[in-house]
Amino acid sequence: MELVFATNNKHKLKEIQHLLGNEIKLLCLDDINCTDEIPEDYNTLEENASQKAWYIYNKYKINCFADDTGLEIEHLNNEPGVFSARYAGSDKNPEANIIKVLQLLKGVKNRNARFRTVISLITDGKETQFEGIINGTILNKKQGTDGFGYDPIFLPDGFRQSFAEMPLSEKNNISHRAIAAQKLVSYLLKKL
Ligand code: IMP
Repeated sequence: MELVFATNNKHKLKEIQHLLGNEIKLLCLDDINCTDEIPEDYNTLEENASQKAWYIYNKYKINCFADDTGLEIEHLNNEPGVFSARYAGSDKNPEANIIKVLQLLKGVKNRNARFRTVISLITDGKETQFEGIINGTILNKKQGTDGFGYDPIFLPDGFRQSFAEMPLSEKNNISHRAIAAQKLVSYLLKKL
């Protein structure tokens, strides 16, 4: 079975292909010659994941899935959420995003936050969504240099290392994306 993942992020592809094993072959956007700027016009992760997946399904008539992720900070009414990539501006600068979050949380005691991923899968014209959440707190300053995005300021509950300090293999075991992806994979493997 072939399935398109609506991304060209090699890291995400590898992570999910690893969970899927050999029976399902993942294709990326390059593999189907899709160079379109896929629209993400909505204000929720659910709607954006859905929009991206339907865009591919309707255009290429192939089973596919898309993901959308956001960092939800309790004190900020779940912002940046769906705006996580472009929180500090349209140039999507991760450093500027971190500075903005730390500034907004300066002196704030409630630092509860979570990463949330939504995956929208479309098989034979039917959509199913999967959610993955990891709870944690926002650190007072950056810790660690690995990872990407908000990793240096996110401390997952029950751990002593930020996402940017822990080995990638450990992050990939516990992350929001891994949780959503594992739900997707068990659903797909049951269908085979
Ligand atoms: P995307 O939907 O996977 O493209 O994620 C949107 C934005 O959320 C990214 O640009 C990052 O700012 C942030 N983000 C998503 N996943 C992670 C993660 O695992 N660590 C840190 N930041 C992340």
